Amino acid sequence: MRKYLIVFALSLFIFNSSQAQEKLKIIATASMIADMAKNIAGDKMDVECIVPIGGDPHTYEPTPRDVKLVVSGDIILMNGLTFEGWLTDLIKNSGTKAKTHIVTKGINAITAIDHANSTDPHAWMDFTFGYQYILNIKNALIETDPSNKVYYEARHDAYLDQLKAADKYVMNKIKTIPEDRRILITSHDAFQYYGRRYGIRLEAVMGVSTDSEIKTSDVIRLNKIIEEFKVPAVFIESTVNPKFLQQLSKDNDIVIGGELFADSIGDEDSEAPTYIDMLKHNTDVIVAALTNQNTSNEFEDHEQNSPAVKIVLYGILGVLCIGGFLLMLFRVNKG
Ligand SMILES: [Zn+2]
Repeated sequence: MRKYLIVFALSLFIFNSSQAQEKLKIIATASMIADMAKNIAGDKMDVECIVPIGGDPHTYEPTPRDVKLVVSGDIILMNGLTFEGWLTDLIKNSGTKAKTHIVTKGINAITAIDHANSTDPHAWMDFTFGYQYILNIKNALIETDPSNKVYYEARHDAYLDQLKAADKYVMNKIKTIPEDRRILITSHDAFQYYGRRYGIRLEAVMGVSTDSEIKTSDVIRLNKIIEEFKVPAVFIESTVNPKFLQQLSKDNDIVIGGELFADSIGDEDSEAPTYIDMLKHNTDVIVAALTNQNTSNEFEDHEQNSPAVKIVLYGILGVLCIGGFLLMLFRVNKG
C-alpha cells in the first residue's frame, strides 16, 4: 500500500511541476496585435492569434478551434472600436476565465463617416497610436504577471524605440512624394489614421468595414479624382478582393501600385511579417507608385527604354558620327 502511495504522490508532483512550467498564454484577436504582444512578452508568455494571417477581422466567423483557444488563454487582447464584432459572443459562449483588455484604450478615435455613432478601428496605422497599443499591452501583462514587471518594461521600452524610428521613417518617406500627388486610393477606408499622421489624402472604395457595398456614386467620385489630380496608381489590399480596384485601374488606364497590408500582417515569407514591417512596406509601395518609380507593373509602357540603355545607344550613335566625320576628312584630304 505504501508503495502505491509513493507512486501516487510522485505522479502528483510531476503533474504539478509540468503545470507550473506551462507559460501564461495571450490570445490576440488580430495578427498585428499578436506581433506587438510577442515583442513585449518575450519568452515569458505564449502568444496565439484568433484571426489567421491574411484573414479579415471585420467579417471573421469563429470556429470550434477558437472556442478552445479562448478557453486556454489567460489574457485576451482585442482592438475594440467596433473591429471585432464577433468576439463578445465567442467569449460568452466559451465561458473563458481570461481577462479581456482593449488595446486602444486612451486613443482618441476617428469617427467613421459611413456609420453613425461608430468609430474607425484602424488606429494601429499611425505609429504614434501604436505607442498606446504597446503601453496597454505592457500594463495587461504586468497586471497578470507582476513578478516579471522589470522584464516587460525593458522589452516595452526597447520596442517603443523601434516604433519611434519607424514613425520617423514613414514621415520622411511620404515627404518625398510631391504634395499634389499625395492621394491614396484603396479598397476600404483603413488608412485614415495613416493619412492624418503622415499627410496623405485618402479615398477608398468602401467604408471603414469590408462588408459595405460599393455604390455607383463612389465609382463616379473616384473616377473624377483620378482624372482631376492625374492619380498615377491605385492600391489593392492583402485581405480584400482586388476585383473592383483592378477594374478601376483598367477603366482609367492607370496602374495597380502594389499590395498594401491593412488588417493583417503578412506571413513569414512576405515583405510584411511584423507590425513595423507592415507600415514600412506599405509606405515603400505607396511612395514608389506615386512618384512613378514602380517598374514592375503590367500596365507599364514597355516601349520606353531605361536610362542605361539610352546612354549606350547615344554612345554608339556618337562613335558612328565621329567615325563618319573622320572618314569624310580622310576622303577630302585624299582628293
Ligand atoms: Zn479594416
